[in-house]
Amino acid sequence: MPSHGTIGTVFSQNACRVLLLGSGELGKEVAIELKRLGCEVIACDRYANAPAMQVADRSHVFSMLDAATLRRVVEEEKPQYIVPEIEAIATEELVQLEQEGYTVVPNARAARLTMNREGIRRFVAEELQIPTSPYVFVDSKEAFEQACKETGFPLLIKPAMSSSGKGQSLLKKADAIDQAWTYAQEGGRVGGTHHSTCIVEGFVDFDYEITVLTVRASNGTFCCDPIGHVQEDGDYRRSWQPMAMSEKAWAQAQEISRTVVDGLGGYGLFGVELFVCGDEIIFSEVSPRPHDTGMVTLATQELSEFALHARAFLGLPIPDIFRYSDGASVALLANGEGAPSFNNCDTALSQPGSQLRLFGKHLCGGQRRLGVALARGTTTDQALDIAQKVADSIHIETPTEL
Ligand code: AMP
Repeated sequence: MPSHGTIGTVFSQNACRVLLLGSGELGKEVAIELKRLGCEVIACDRYANAPAMQVADRSHVFSMLDAATLRRVVEEEKPQYIVPEIEAIATEELVQLEQEGYTVVPNARAARLTMNREGIRRFVAEELQIPTSPYVFVDSKEAFEQACKETGFPLLIKPAMSSSGKGQSLLKKADAIDQAWTYAQEGGRVGGTHHSTCIVEGFVDFDYEITVLTVRASNGTFCCDPIGHVQEDGDYRRSWQPMAMSEKAWAQAQEISRTVVDGLGGYGLFGVELFVCGDEIIFSEVSPRPHDTGMVTLATQELSEFALHARAFLGLPIPDIFRYSDGASVALLANGEGAPSFNNCDTALSQPGSQLRLFGKHLCGGQRRLGVALARGTTTDQALDIAQKVADSIHIETPTEL
């Protein structure tokens, strides 16, 4: 058991060793915060030189779904904290490791429940009795057709194990059922020849959607100001903080976020995704870790979502969350192969209040998020305008264009 309140010295017997499972851009920022607190950071991902590996003390390359290798690395590194950064992990192994005395952040049950849309949806809707979209889980095309009849159009189909819009379709009427089923089967993480489970969800005609970053720390559970965001093709494009909301809606959003996060338990930061319809809140999803829409807190808060996550899971208190400005983030996306160059960064960053994060990712076919433009402003509209100008000024040159 880690002793809360004590941090040892890196590369020594008493070092506070943290094993990151997944080394993307969010893990990179968590790694930076951990390094600031003197921790020893070991980053893992299925490919070498992933973003968090570029700032970690050392790394291991393997698939996070490979339970045997995951165990071998944990036994070799003996980390005080095992920190999942992605959903697709051998979570049963995490449950086992936790029983053996390792600390999983926030805990192994939260990682297992949120790895699969079915686990978390049933927990929130059926156990916690929190409002969600109407839903049915299906694992055959016949069951899907039946679910379409029951749910009515428009509806969404999503693979139970997928994220970032992969395999997700919005069906407005019955004519595209076959296509949506095939796409969902191809987009699910399980893949292969057998059918993977999908969720069919009634379409929620929300006014807007928010992320409530909620941190469970040794001194309590606290919500950051709401983050508004825009998603395209199931992936986030822009976010801003704070999202203007009615007092009633915000009170309910905080209540739901705290209930979900306290229901999952453990220490760390969670991204609770909610739909807002008038004053009513409908739960969508939760990540038991920093959230992509929360990158805006790098420009708005004294302790970003990454700093809050690190501080909370290390067992340290969060006496206050100070937001010093309104702000916005705009994702930088590109297609292609190889190592991109980012041209015109000088013009882009001549905008006052602007910041840039470049993740250090290679392109590997298909669209990839390579960076984020951040801005603070006196209003969220002004910040969005600045962040968009930064993003628009940067020309991403990919080797295939040469
Ligand atoms: P997800 O992968 O579940 O986070 O969904 C990605 C995005 O798709 C959400 O942020 C929403 O913008 C949209 N979406 C997902 N589910 C629904 C729903 N039931 N009704 C309306 N929009 C949805």
